[in-house]
Amino acid sequence: MIELREVGRRYLLGQTEVHALEGVSLSIQAGEYVAIIGQSGSGKSTLMNVLGCLDTPSSGQFLIDGQDAAGLGADELAALRRQRFGFIFQRYHLLPHLDARANAALPAVYAGAGHAARQQRAEALLTRLGLGDRLHHKPNELSGGQQQRVSIARSLMNGGHIILADEPTGALDSQSGAEMLTLLGELNGQGHTVILVTHDAHVAGHAKRLIELKDGRVLHDSGTPPGHHAPALASSDAAGPLLAAGGWWQQRRGQWREALQSAALALRGNRLRTALSVLGISIGIAAVVSIMALTSAARSSIEKDVGSFLSGRIPVWRGNANLPPGTQPKPFVPGEIDAIRALPGVKGVTTERETQLVARHSARDAAVNVVGAEPHTLAARKLKLALGRQLSAMDRASSAQVALIDEKARKALFKPGESPLGKTLLLTPNAGMDPNQPGVAPPVGVALPVTVVGVVEQDTGGPVQFGDTNGRVFIPLPTFSRKLDLRVDADHFNVLLDFTVPPAEVRKQIIYRLKALHGIEDFDSWNADEEFKKIQSVTGAMALLFAGVGAISLLVGGVGVMNIMLVSVSERTREIGIRMAVGARQADVRLQFLVEAIVLCCLGGLVGVGLSWLAAQGLNAVQKELHVSVDLTALAVAFAVSSLVGLVFGTLPARRAAALSPVDALARE
Ligand code: ADP
Ligand code: MG
Repeated sequence: MIELREVGRRYLLGQTEVHALEGVSLSIQAGEYVAIIGQSGSGKSTLMNVLGCLDTPSSGQFLIDGQDAAGLGADELAALRRQRFGFIFQRYHLLPHLDARANAALPAVYAGAGHAARQQRAEALLTRLGLGDRLHHKPNELSGGQQQRVSIARSLMNGGHIILADEPTGALDSQSGAEMLTLLGELNGQGHTVILVTHDAHVAGHAKRLIELKDGRVLHDSGTPPGHHAPALASSDAAGPLLAAGGWWQQRRGQWREALQSAALALRGNRLRTALSVLGISIGIAAVVSIMALTSAARSSIEKDVGSFLSGRIPVWRGNANLPPGTQPKPFVPGEIDAIRALPGVKGVTTERETQLVARHSARDAAVNVVGAEPHTLAARKLKLALGRQLSAMDRASSAQVALIDEKARKALFKPGESPLGKTLLLTPNAGMDPNQPGVAPPVGVALPVTVVGVVEQDTGGPVQFGDTNGRVFIPLPTFSRKLDLRVDADHFNVLLDFTVPPAEVRKQIIYRLKALHGIEDFDSWNADEEFKKIQSVTGAMALLFAGVGAISLLVGGVGVMNIMLVSVSERTREIGIRMAVGARQADVRLQFLVEAIVLCCLGGLVGVGLSWLAAQGLNAVQKELHVSVDLTALAVAFAVSSLVGLVFGTLPARRAAALSPVDALARE
């Protein structure tokens, strides 16, 4: 079953080569009970590690079941350890944070057996070994003899066809040692191949075959006893049938479950360290989340204000700064406006007209912008009614002398607390203004009295070129053009976009049309929508910049996690060695540490979101300008980001752990 041909194992210690094994040739049949004996340093452990596929020879051939071990990869060797071998070590090598049952069941985890079946078999094995009442004891709560029996249960978990015991009695008192040897004898009687390493001739006397080593060479081999019969490989033992590996899905699930459990145990085992790493990550996450929440609140506030009068429109007005001096800009006649309305990409044109007048109420005078409002004027300016009613179709049809005023005009014309509804305003021409200027009405003979029917929010929109006045007064457009300013042409209009054509293209068309109609470019326009996009891109860039600053602190946290994980790997090297000895693949070890890093970072993410939520609540409580919200999206983003940080910064430590060789890892204290 096992054959060694001229096997050598050399170690390089500085400049000198140590020959731990040299020219070892032997073969062992299934079902044998072999003792390897020799003085300390004679190469017994080295031989055992080679036999158990924990180590590979430097020279010669090692065949198991006729297969050359040199041709096997790390995962295939792990599979052999898992399926064929059971190890018993002098110092037991149990995982300290797992109880007896979990320690015994460990090899079945990596074999992919189901959870319940694993536990059941581990319990059966431990009970048979007299530990039925110690299932939930941790190794440090068990005596040496008991720990060694747990390690026997572990070696039998996946069948343990070949039991390799390296000085199994070395750390035991004589009675436990004797029990141990009896057990090994019994197991051999049941068909297990037992290979026992010892320096003690009395212990070796229990075996049926003796191989004596000296200075890495076989000094004496009593050979396979005559009449030895190799037993068939058993598919069940006294503890029940051997466990079958689960399907692909069950194996993956088991892998993840084990990784999560061991991550939880490791993190709980080092509370202070875990807390500090979590703190590092949470500061980073809190920085990113708060900055993002703050900038998004600021952005949406800016964009709401600016967007309400910029987005989706191109204002066009009479006059152009580049006109030669003395040239009179022409107003826009209805036919021209109809031509613009017909352009592709134009949803409509608001021909509302606007002029500066003086409004009078009681003894108060205020310069205001009077707007001839169309049905959609208020909607286009995104103004909400605060008091009273809208201008109606009836008002327009009858050219009614009614008005809506905005909050600014209300403050200028009415005493605080005085209701403007139903009051009359007198609109009179502003004597001090030049009637030739665009936007200023030519003097009309009479003042126009209008009744206030409603109040709207302060208007920040409208044509941008008009100077600051004391607010706006909206009257129906027919009233404006029949009773206030008899001209039919307009000084200004807004083109509303439907976005079927790019705004810049629409503006080009407008300029082209109007220039053709006017002969010269005596008008100006503004692509408000494009300006709005520019503002958006600036605020977007700012948000990105701030998020970048937050990301740097996250990076620092991530480096902290990597550091801690590297420490954790080097502290737990022996644990890694034990897991590998019982058959963990490199992928299992990698996953374990990666999951640990991700769990650590996700905890940090959770705490970080909590911190930034608190900060947002505090900020919202002390000011009303911005509403900062940290919501489920932030939580999702934080989780995604922290998992990513865990993945990125956990990869190096996890790869390090997985790359360890099982013997080196086991030898490390
Ligand atoms: P035994 O188990 O019989 O006491 P070992 O197999 O542990 O002996 O060691 C055999 C020889 O190989 C010793 O001289 C030891 O110093 C050397 N050796 C074992 N492991 C290593 C190693 N990892 N690096 C260098 N030398 C080693
Ligand atoms: Mg040894």
